[in-house]
Amino acid sequence: MILNNTQEFIFDISRPGRTAYDLPDSDVPAYDLASELPAYLNREREADFPEVSELQLVRHYTALSNRNFGVESGPYPLGSCTMKYNPKVNEVIAAFDGFNHIHPLQAASSSQGALQLLYELKQYLAEVSGMDAMTLQPAAGAQGELTAILVFKAYHEANGDGEKRTKIIIPDSAHGTNPATAMVAGYDVLEIPSNPEGTVDIEALKEAVGDDTAGIMLTNPNTIGLYEKDILKIADIVHKAGGLLYYDGANSNAIMGISSPGAMGFDAVHFNLHKTFSGPHGGGGPGSGPIGVKKFLEPFLPEPRIEKEGDRYVIKDDFPQSIGRMKGAFGNFGVNVRAYAYIRAMGPDGLKQASQDAVLNANYVKARIAKYYDEPFEAFHCKHEFVAAATRQRDQGANAKDIGKRLMDYGIHAPTTYFPLIVPECLMIEPTETESKEDLDYLADVLIQIAKEVEENPELVASAPHKTPVKRLDEVGASKNPILIYQKEAKE
Ligand SMILES: *Cc1c(COP(=O)(O)O)cnc(C)c1O
Repeated sequence: MILNNTQEFIFDISRPGRTAYDLPDSDVPAYDLASELPAYLNREREADFPEVSELQLVRHYTALSNRNFGVESGPYPLGSCTMKYNPKVNEVIAAFDGFNHIHPLQAASSSQGALQLLYELKQYLAEVSGMDAMTLQPAAGAQGELTAILVFKAYHEANGDGEKRTKIIIPDSAHGTNPATAMVAGYDVLEIPSNPEGTVDIEALKEAVGDDTAGIMLTNPNTIGLYEKDILKIADIVHKAGGLLYYDGANSNAIMGISSPGAMGFDAVHFNLHKTFSGPHGGGGPGSGPIGVKKFLEPFLPEPRIEKEGDRYVIKDDFPQSIGRMKGAFGNFGVNVRAYAYIRAMGPDGLKQASQDAVLNANYVKARIAKYYDEPFEAFHCKHEFVAAATRQRDQGANAKDIGKRLMDYGIHAPTTYFPLIVPECLMIEPTETESKEDLDYLADVLIQIAKEVEENPELVASAPHKTPVKRLDEVGASKNPILIYQKEAKE
């Protein structure tokens, strides 16, 4: 194939003097701003921008976007990420002038609408989570976790218990951000094993708790997609030891309107609005990771806070026990607007329906591929996601990673692979509620087809992908030696 210029870097097709616009000559005198700026603000040389025509520019970025894979390209069953479709109306609403042009430091008196939206969003999320108070500050799930664990810490310190409660208990199936959060907050991590059913080992938990327990970080359904049916017992064991329970609600797609962390006995939770509540994600943000807490933890939440006095919304920052500010401007406002629009459009029944459909879709795909992949845990039902193990396929010559790559040849994004760590050759599949029956069947058909390919011609799968713009990339090299700016030499 002849390399056309859409496959080159935009700097390579740059020609001096070429421009992407054609405007009439200016009829006002040029203004020399540079001469008025202090010298240290002036550039030593002109910025090295590419010089291309408008059509070259449009072709270049259209070609790049076509090489990308998104939820608008095909099924995206990336487990623990909830890559559901985000209704476009949420984008339209987030772009309304009143939301889009507001300034973070604008006075409360001239931003009543925005404050009302944030205030009401907190109330809706409190209801969905079964919590009493929320903050919208955290910019992502991981920052929500940190906020909540710092709230736990402040609570223990206020009780005079801070010194002795040094440990956070985390099951071995947890998301990697959980132990990272506990460490960043200054705690020691105590890992407990899962039982053969894939849920928390109650005996191991009983042995782990004690005077030094600050809390436990859990998610339910857990990262294997299984429901901890002993959750009330777990809550009781941790509470009796004086510890607190934190719910990683990044993936709440299975429980909205059906159960809630509050009802399960948890003291705090974070949501990922950019997963469950339809914020766009997968390009690195922005996100929103609000947390909710039970009443007794409210004094420790970040400030400033939005409160309602009569029919006015006010910003308050005189909370002596608060852990302080976690993020500017009440968090990522635009993501919060999208979540508000989503929740208002869905309503309580719609959110519940979304969860029921997410669980149904996951179970449907799970059942359809059951004969072709190994099941690490013998659970009859899963929640919004499930894990299959490609151990049989590994023994035949193609592993979980190869299967993920082969899916790309069929226009399907890879599932999460090798996570959770306790499942060998793990494929973690989360179809989400927004896929149609036909697309679920396509996903299942392709997974079955690939299992057959591995049996007949493992090399075909082991060398995939064959039809994507780039083949196997040096993933370790890309993370250990990232080249993030254009370097002519690097390319040559
Ligand atoms: C995605 C995820 C997180 C982290 O969320 P970020 O917004 O990426 O920081 C934490 N826990 C679980 C279970 C997740 O799936």
